[in-house]
Amino acid sequence: MRLRFAPSPTGYLHVGGARTALYNWLLARRFGGAFVLRIEDTDISRSTEEAIEAILEDMRWLGLDWDEGPETGGDHWPYRQTGRATLYLKAARSLLEEGKAYRCFCLPEELEARREKAVAEGRSPMYDRRCRSIPPEETHRMEQEGRPFALRFLVPEGETVVRDAIRGDITFNNAEIEDFVLLRGDGTPTYNLAVVVDDRDMEISHVVRGDDHLPNTPKQILLYRALDTAEPAFAHLPMIVGQDGKPLSKRHGDVAVGRFREEGFLPDAMVNFLALLGWSLDDATTIIDRRTLVTNFGLERVGSKPAVWDDDKLLWMNAQYIMAMGDEDLARALMPFLAREGLAEEDDEQALERMLSAAPLIRERMKVLSDAVPLVAFLFREVEAEEEAKELLRGEENQAILRETGKRLLELDRFDSASIEEALRATAEGMGIKPRKAFQPIRVAVSGSRVSPPLFESMHILGREKCMQRIARALEAGGEQDR
Ligand code: GLU
Repeated sequence: MRLRFAPSPTGYLHVGGARTALYNWLLARRFGGAFVLRIEDTDISRSTEEAIEAILEDMRWLGLDWDEGPETGGDHWPYRQTGRATLYLKAARSLLEEGKAYRCFCLPEELEARREKAVAEGRSPMYDRRCRSIPPEETHRMEQEGRPFALRFLVPEGETVVRDAIRGDITFNNAEIEDFVLLRGDGTPTYNLAVVVDDRDMEISHVVRGDDHLPNTPKQILLYRALDTAEPAFAHLPMIVGQDGKPLSKRHGDVAVGRFREEGFLPDAMVNFLALLGWSLDDATTIIDRRTLVTNFGLERVGSKPAVWDDDKLLWMNAQYIMAMGDEDLARALMPFLAREGLAEEDDEQALERMLSAAPLIRERMKVLSDAVPLVAFLFREVEAEEEAKELLRGEENQAILRETGKRLLELDRFDSASIEEALRATAEGMGIKPRKAFQPIRVAVSGSRVSPPLFESMHILGREKCMQRIARALEAGGEQDR
């Protein structure tokens, strides 16, 4: 099996594209085939280098490694369509010579006017095939005059059947297939020509792609046949829709893969979630690791019904993956997020140590990795108490709690969480205040918030010196307010 993912680098990789890439990758890995990455950048005006780089980065992040393509190379180099122009021209020329394509001299504005008229009169807006019947001498003369022309495919009569691995046979009446353009007036190839020449030359055995391409497939099948090549097997994946049933798009929020990476979704969770957008293992299992996906994925369990995107499910799934991470993996995964917020350098060993201790305290409070930042910020920088928490530092009782606790903490031999807990409880008891109430001002003083990760462990991670400083500061701040 030879499969491919063929993104157009006109923008970022979105989740629909990522699912297509994943399905191809899974099939290649399961059946020991090759996974080819090809950049379809024939639309030069809209393709950018940044988009190519971003797509490669997203693919790497998702762990979808390719056997042939940019950077890895392969026998069918180059893997960028702009480097393959002569191959398309050669194929176009042979089709022209064999009478399977013809020159069309209609100008874009003429075509547009005729299309509008046809629509207004309730006829098909399809190209009316008029240049098919220009006699050869006339074509020759027009060409000599330097009249610009496009090259169109001459769609033969009959029917074309797409044998789709997911939807079964779909029959198209050729009379309803336009004589589509192969080469534009400026000599550049169209998608349909380039994709067929490339899939042929790269010996692609299975084309698995979104069903938005289904209308192109009969055209491509006709092209394969005109080029005397057997067509590959086709499978068109169901579209992805939002909760409102409409095709997933920007309307539903940012659907770029990069956004999920930045928010701190885990690649394995993302892969698990994307795999289930159209496929199922057994209609029940939702957490499926990569290995199980690779050994079980197949098109026979891909449905043709639209797959519904569910943000809550993705968040839930990501939380499950975070829960299953070891402390060390989690701590390391969090470092870039701390770095982004300026809390610590990514390779700061001390910060990593601190995160290792903090990981078990925050794991269950996170859905995405970036959730950790507000939870642990107080471990890395001085914090100003949140406005609604400030009153917990004021008043005689709160000030007394802070003062008494400070004293006890100073006296501790060891500053570990058990000793800290003991000290705090003893203070509360001594003052005749319920522990939960007595802990509040301490919590606000050290973390700046009424809701922090577990208090004693946090204080332990923070260390005695920092805790004492913060309690002293809280005493000052609260005291000032009272004056
Ligand atoms: N370049 C096309 C796209 O991004 C994919 C073509 C294909 O898979 O055949 O939509």
